[in-house]
Amino acid sequence: MFRFDKRTVPDIRTVLPGPKAKGLLERDQRFMSPSYTRIYPLVVERGSGAVIEDVDGNLFLDFTAGIAVTSTGHCHPEVVAAIQDQAAKLLHMSGTDFYYEPQIALAQKLAEMSPGPSKKRIFFTNSGAEALEAALKLSRWHTHRSRVIAFFGAFHGRTYGAMSLSGSKLVHRRGFSPLVPDIHHVAYPQNAECGKPNAECRIEGCPTVREIETTLFKRVAPPEEVAAIFIEPIQGESGYRVCPPGCLPALRELCDKHGILLVVDEVQSGMGRTGKLFAVEHWGVEPDIICSAKGIASGMPLGAIIARDRVMDWPPGSHASTFGGNPVSCRAALATLNLLEREYMKNAAERGVQLQAGLRRLQEKHACLHDVRGIGLMTAIDVVKDKTSLAPDLKKRDEIVQAAFHRGLLLLGCGENGIRFCPPLCITAGQVETGLGILSKATT
Ligand code: PLP
Repeated sequence: MFRFDKRTVPDIRTVLPGPKAKGLLERDQRFMSPSYTRIYPLVVERGSGAVIEDVDGNLFLDFTAGIAVTSTGHCHPEVVAAIQDQAAKLLHMSGTDFYYEPQIALAQKLAEMSPGPSKKRIFFTNSGAEALEAALKLSRWHTHRSRVIAFFGAFHGRTYGAMSLSGSKLVHRRGFSPLVPDIHHVAYPQNAECGKPNAECRIEGCPTVREIETTLFKRVAPPEEVAAIFIEPIQGESGYRVCPPGCLPALRELCDKHGILLVVDEVQSGMGRTGKLFAVEHWGVEPDIICSAKGIASGMPLGAIIARDRVMDWPPGSHASTFGGNPVSCRAALATLNLLEREYMKNAAERGVQLQAGLRRLQEKHACLHDVRGIGLMTAIDVVKDKTSLAPDLKKRDEIVQAAFHRGLLLLGCGENGIRFCPPLCITAGQVETGLGILSKATT
């Protein structure tokens, strides 16, 4: 097992990129699709916990978890052991046509751990986008309705259904039309817009519900034609925007009133990242369908939709996936869920409080940092020109992320001018403090 105990982390020993990384970057440049969005030249060799070693032996502290994926840390020994054990027994048999125990065990575990009293059923995919596709198809199938409501700022993935649900950036859509029809976007709920104190905000006081009822339902989308509302409880790519406290209960009421399904995209916010298995639990709402992926199997490709039993009523052959829920990924997910239950969900909540307190201290110290937000280890801060205008400073944000990289801290942007903090959920208190220290230096 790879450990870093004889070296302190971070430990940058070469100019970045180092010589080996440079060689690989040249080959990447020649052979890889230009559509990827790499922001700094990190070429990874291996990882352990919240530490990444690059091909030149430099050690980085990872506050990205491979974009919120390695939930239990890089190569957690229990996850690796489960993968190795399963790989020696059975790699594939296709859960679409045959049965195997790891898939059944994982479906049962997810059903039992998911929020709300209703019985649940699971459909397995390989990715987040595929989970959104499955949720879109199931919503239309179950309701016999075509229309769907989604939100500006949402990011749901890159396949046609998921892309059509997204309302984040033009670069995701430009040149790819025609998209899936009958998807209507509305503004993502914002705290400041809520007329009442958040805790009281329910269907009658919710500006988002009002907008849907008075504009969308009256002008373009009859409610009896709407199959589902798709929402991220915390918008990911567009800046870790947290849905106000009353809004998800209000949307739940709206859905119940019109026979619409409430679908939550927990691809980024789920799997313990906010201190609960699914972020929606913070709102006390039971959705009809939950979309999961990213952190579910600590880095192995897996996604899932978790639907109420009465909703997942499609017939054999209507939806399936050769690889979705393969035995190795399912075993990795079972090990992941055990670790989350045992220690990492609690750690995510505690480290999140510590991280946000630290960021608030940095916000007081640095004129360009503003608006610490998020829940648990799904936390972000904005980079602004100054505290009066609060004008977004994209250039400075990118400079901070680059400067942090050169000091050995891996960060990612989000939204227009945000920096996101989504480290592995095993991150220690000491690593959080180290990260905050580097961020402070990278900001000055
Ligand atoms: N939904 C959300 C909220 C996401 O953040 C992402 C990916 O970033 C996706 C869906 C798409 O997941 P994938 O890249 O696995 O298809």
